[in-house]
Amino acid sequence: MSGCSSGGPHEIECRQIAELLGDYLDGTLPSGTRDLIDFHIDGCPPCVAFINTYRGTVDATRKLADVPIPSELKKRLLAVLKSDQAPNKQR
Ligand SMILES: [Zn+2]
Repeated sequence: MSGCSSGGPHEIECRQIAELLGDYLDGTLPSGTRDLIDFHIDGCPPCVAFINTYRGTVDATRKLADVPIPSELKKRLLAVLKSDQAPNKQR
């Protein structure tokens, strides 16, 4: 917090932010690394914008994954259910 001439011994670059971002958002990074990224983002608007974009992409992907059951999976599920029920019906 004492000026911007030094990033400290653990200075982290925008490139590294980009590489670590997936893990950062997943919460799988060690807390020390997270702190470094938080610290960097604090003083780096381009990285904030980048993360917001990345988050939007991830959110969209997760929403897509949440909603529909793939029709192939549905078919296999139905096939399993049918093959289970068939013997019962025959009794
Ligand atoms: Zn940056």
